[in-house]
Amino acid sequence: MVQVCVAFGANLGDALATVLRAIQEVGALATTQLHQASSLYASAPHEATGPEFVNAVAIYDTDLPPLDLLEALQNLEHVAGRERLFPNAPRTLDLDIIFYGDLALATPRLTLPHPRWQERAFVLKPLAEILPDLVKEEWLEKVSDQEIYRL
Ligand code: ADP
Ligand code: MG
Repeated sequence: MVQVCVAFGANLGDALATVLRAIQEVGALATTQLHQASSLYASAPHEATGPEFVNAVAIYDTDLPPLDLLEALQNLEHVAGRERLFPNAPRTLDLDIIFYGDLALATPRLTLPHPRWQERAFVLKPLAEILPDLVKEEWLEKVSDQEIYRL
């Protein structure tokens, strides 16, 4: 079993319901159990466009290998109706693997840990709620200009 962290974001359609459902759907993947989910947050688009985002992060235990997990997450994005119209376009659902145990990987399909998670308030804030030891105070200070609040 590996402990993995998945970040959820949605800013089209019923974003709140989509994120809540996705948190459960990831926990229903083969050999995967939800360990802990953060509260839901609302954030202004950051490196993205469109309406406000609903965000959350969750920790799972899984036996899925990294690329199988990525494929399963992309399948859930697809089922949620995501279309990649242009880079950083508004999305019905975005699922990112923030970390996969302590695995470090840099391939075109998958980079672990996620290369930009420490610069994103919408990852740091919810993660600080469930794994406070992992999130440095100085990182939170650096993203304090990014608008985000707990729903
Ligand atoms: P973003 O999440 O950066 O807004 P996408 O969701 O469209 O954009 O992801 C683009 C690509 O990033 C995916 O096709 C995937 O192969 C790749 N990728 C690399 N590392 C990761 C990761 N840790 N989690 C999710 N996707 C990743
Ligand atoms: Mg993504």
